[in-house]
Amino acid sequence: MCILIFAETWDGKLKKSSNESISFGKHLANQLQIKTKVIIFSNSSENHETLGNYGADEIIKLSSITLERVENDKLANLISEIAKKEEAKHVIISNTNRGKSICSKISYDLNKTLITNAVSLPSSCIPLKIKCKAFSSKAFCTYDVGNDNSVITIVPNSIGYKENKSHYDINEANESMISSSTSIKIVKEEKNNNEVSITDAERVISAGRGLKGPENWKMIEELAGLINGGTACSKPVSDMGWRPHSEHVGQTGIAINPDLYIAVGISGAIQHLAGVSSSKKIVVINTDPEAPFFKSADYGIVGDAFEVIPKLIEEIKKHSE
Ligand SMILES: Cc1cc2nc3c(=O)[nH]c(=O)nc-3n(C[C@H](O)[C@H](O)[C@H](O)COP(=O)(O)OP(=O)(O)OC[C@H]3O[C@@H](n4cnc5c(N)ncnc54)[C@H](O)[C@@H]3O)c2cc1C
Repeated sequence: MCILIFAETWDGKLKKSSNESISFGKHLANQLQIKTKVIIFSNSSENHETLGNYGADEIIKLSSITLERVENDKLANLISEIAKKEEAKHVIISNTNRGKSICSKISYDLNKTLITNAVSLPSSCIPLKIKCKAFSSKAFCTYDVGNDNSVITIVPNSIGYKENKSHYDINEANESMISSSTSIKIVKEEKNNNEVSITDAERVISAGRGLKGPENWKMIEELAGLINGGTACSKPVSDMGWRPHSEHVGQTGIAINPDLYIAVGISGAIQHLAGVSSSKKIVVINTDPEAPFFKSADYGIVGDAFEVIPKLIEEIKKHSE
């Protein structure tokens, strides 16, 4: 028996959200006195070492294929097959776009209880009790699944991770497990050129229609660069093609939980808040003192973005000199 964790990579690098999944899995494994096994599409010793640092007892690697080339149904089949072979008690996956796309199929294949959106370590491992986000982050709930085996998805940037070094073995997975036929075809790939992924980013600077046009995003990118943050936007901004869809946050976009979310020229509609309200600190910059976003802000600046942002950049530069 084991805890099976799926570690995601992006461009060959291990995603930070995977470290959280491993930390979570290791905690559970320690309590249940069983081992952790981690699936990764990578032959990089650096990635393997990181997995070991956060608690992998065994690494199950697929070294000759990249994750980006694997369709979701094949990936779900692969994880289910490995889970059956390894007699996994719980399967842990990040609540990323990938994770959300595969978790229900895996829980169905394995006939395990599905627990999505976990935001903290289990308050109890036997019986299993986990706090999760619910209703687009408007509430929390605690699942109590008794002794059921489960598939658990972890909200990125919610639990954190700490070193928990393990001596790990490495084994190669049987790649024929992903050669099954698929009805999903990748028809187009659009590369997200952002250096910092917004689901992993600790700081995100986001802008809305208040910025008037795409040509005004240079200052947002500069500020993001200075604080090592990612850039995001409201839905209309991506709908109008001012920014790529990969930056759209909210109910119909990506849900994020950075330590710091700076919202510039965004009114704070409920659909936008649904994706960002779990941010640990929210700063709102808006000309309208009545903008609804101020009600959810930890800090608010009533002012024109075209005056406030350049001043902010100037001050940050002074402090980083
Ligand atoms: C089913 C559904 C799903 C949706 N999903 C999403 C979603 O996932 N994400 C999302 O974002 N929206 C979503 N929306 C749209 C949402 O309801 C809002 O329309 C949208 O968030 C508004 O975007 P905005 O704040 O950029 O623009 P606006 O509402 O136009 O707000 C612009 C803000 O900028 C301020 N401003 C203007 N000039 C300046 C300046 N110079 N400096 C500073 N501030 C300035 C204004 O005071 C205003 O508050 C959804 C809507 C529906 C119906």
